[in-house]
Parts: sequence; C-alpha cells; structure tokens
Amino acid sequence: MLQSLAGKTIIVTGGSRGIGRGISLRFGQAKLNVLVVSRNQADADKVAAEIGPHASGFRADVSQQEDCQAMAAAALQRYGGLDILCANAGIFPAAKLTEMTPADFDTVMSTNLRSTFLSVSAVLPAMIKAGGGRIILTSSITGPITGYPGWAHYGASKAGQLGFMRTAAIELAPHQITVNAVLPGNIFTEGLEGMGADYIAKMEASIPLKRLGTVKDIANAALFLASEEAAYITGQSIVVDGGQVLPESLGALEAME
Ligand code: NAP
Repeated sequence: MLQSLAGKTIIVTGGSRGIGRGISLRFGQAKLNVLVVSRNQADADKVAAEIGPHASGFRADVSQQEDCQAMAAAALQRYGGLDILCANAGIFPAAKLTEMTPADFDTVMSTNLRSTFLSVSAVLPAMIKAGGGRIILTSSITGPITGYPGWAHYGASKAGQLGFMRTAAIELAPHQITVNAVLPGNIFTEGLEGMGADYIAKMEASIPLKRLGTVKDIANAALFLASEEAAYITGQSIVVDGGQVLPESLGALEAME
C-alpha cells in the first residue's frame, strides 16, 4: 500500500483519451486534484467531470510554449500548487520512409518531443519553488527498444524523450524533482476498439502474458513513480508491456506452448 497522495495536484497532458484518460482517472481516484489537458476543451472537461469536483479540463496544445505556460499557471491558480506532471500527450501517424515528408517528421517531433521539453520547462518554476516534484514521461517500447515500419519519426521522438529525461534528472535532482518514464507496450485504448477481434488476437499472440495492456496498467506505474515510495528513483524507465519485448524470435513464443 502506497502512502496517500491525496490533495496533491497533477497535470496530465493528453488526458482526454486513452492512456492519459486512464492516468487522470487513476490519480483522481487517489484524490489528487487533476488538470486534464488536451487540445479539445470539451473532451478534457468530460474526463474531469467523470473524476469529480477536484478535477478540471484545460485546453492546450503542448507543442506551443505559451499554452504550456498557461497550463502550469492554471494548475497553480485553480489548486494552489503543482506537484506532478505526466507528460503523456502524443501522436503516432504512420508513414514509411519512402513517403515521409519533412513536415510529417516535424509534426511528430513537435507534438511528442518538443512538447516534453516545453511542458517540463513550464512546471519547473512552481516545482522548484515548492522544493520538489515528480515528472513522469509517457515514452514507448517503440524507439527506445523496438522498431515498427512507419514509425521511424515516432520511434525517434520516443527515444528522444529518454535522452531528455537522463539529463533533466541530473539537472533537477538538486531541487528534489525526479524525472522518470513509463514505456507502454500495446495498450488497449479507444483507438484499438474498432480494429476488430482478429487484429487484436494477433497482437495478443505476440505478448508472453497473452493480453494487451490496459490504461490502468500504465496508470499504476505512473502512480508508483509519483509516490513517496519512489522518491529515490530518478532518470529511469519502467517497461509495462506484458513481456512483449522479451522473446528473441517467433520460435521463443511458439516454445511457450
Ligand atoms: P490517444 O488515445 O490518441 O490520446 C492522445 C491524447 O493526447 C489525447 O488526449 C489528445 O487529445 C492528446 N494530444 C495529442 N496531441 C496533443 C497536443 N499537441 N497538445 C495537447 N494534447 C494533445 O493516444 P494514447 O494511445 O493514449 O497514447 C498516449 C501516449 O502513450 C502517447 O505519448 C503515445 O506515444 C504513448 N503510447 C501509447 C501506446 C498505446 O498502445 N496506446 C503505446 C506506447 C506508447 P487532443 O487530440 O484533443 O489534443
């Protein structure tokens, strides 16, 4: 049982759907104040309403510096503090290298990696003033560990987050701010629901634990990294993938049978 984080304040970027929604709901359930951030105010408000009066929605595009600063200011103004940032917003449009344009590359880098820098920078003044804080990045197995056709830009952005994290963790350690990352495998989100049973069965077959991850699996890892019990962990990443990256070949999976 982790010590209670009740009453603390968290910003969850990309909190309106998928993994970010799961993180928002989990921290809301743990009685933190939750600022749910997305580019769509109504979607963010909807998740906040599911949580209750200690949550609210905020519209921000995390690839824009002014929006990130406004997001941090809103958390301070609404809740009087800012303890945890889950920098989770991300996009994953596929484009093979023979078709990928510089604009495709820049959009993914801007939304996934530049946003990491901008949202972290925006929360620092408040966390430094408070004498501590927790920053949790949603990276991916794709990029840091694995590759997938169509996702060279995405993989680069997700691996880039870990490079950013390691230096940020050193720089921010004197302020008692920890910076860690969660690396999800294949997580069942709203986006996957329409893909059909066959598609999902194929994905499950490649995972030693034989199921897709849930948004709760990721939220629980984030909750641990935000906890008092994780105070001495910084600059690290936790893979939450049901063992997906472990088999060295298809044969290894078949040998499980
Ligand atoms: P999702 O369901 O598509 O949700 C993405 C969230 O990010 C939405 O709330 C979206 O809201 C928000 N967002 C996108 N661009 C934004 C921007 N510029 N500014 C602010 N908010 C923005 O995605 P997901 O699958 O939950 O993925 C969430 C994170 O987990 C991403 O970083 C992704 O790379 C990572 N991840 C996911 C999986 C997986 O299996 N799902 C696996 C590994 C890693 P708006 O569109 O309204 O702004």
